[in-house]
Amino acid sequence: MAAPLTVVVSGPGGAGKGTIVHLLLALDPQLWLSRSWTTRARRPGEAEDAYEFVSREAFEQRIAAAGFLEWAEFLGNLYGTPLQDPPAGRDVVYEIDVQGAAQIVARRPDALLVFVEAPTRAAQEARLRRRGDPEEVIVQRLAKANGEAARGQELGARVVVNDEVERATAELAELIRDAREHRG
Ligand code: 5GP
Repeated sequence: MAAPLTVVVSGPGGAGKGTIVHLLLALDPQLWLSRSWTTRARRPGEAEDAYEFVSREAFEQRIAAAGFLEWAEFLGNLYGTPLQDPPAGRDVVYEIDVQGAAQIVARRPDALLVFVEAPTRAAQEARLRRRGDPEEVIVQRLAKANGEAARGQELGARVVVNDEVERATAELAELIRDAREHRG
């Protein structure tokens, strides 16, 4: 059997990467999504299993026990990928920020790194507003976006512009097909 593929999907808040990953998983049962831990509070209407929502204390205990593959602080909250074994034969998808992406790529240079970008900052802002982020968080996320895009470029990420969600998902699925064909 071919070695599992590692797919890292990154991009600024409000670019729509969560929606794209959700559609992608429905299309491709070989993919397995790693569920992160976070100390962020659950947003109104956000799925209960979007993350493992934990206290800062529980998160710090897991850091101390070396229980994360990677973790990062993002706008005052901690986010991390728990160390876990994906089910046999499945390709793993990590939906994480660019700091975490850099850590995964350092461990797995063969990972496919994709940066999902909003077509414009105005479109990103509209999306952040629709999902009900507080105003100060919207401002912080927008301010962070250009730096994140620059970091993604440094890491050699493939950029997928979320101009239309089905099209962007198909483009990501195509990148994955291509990476599967070329893996060792
Ligand atoms: P949000 O608060 O919008 O759900 O997530 C904020 C940022 O943290 C997003 O860029 C998201 O992809 C990222 N993120 C989610 N889980 C993880 C994780 O396990 N590790 C890292 N490094 N970032 C994560």
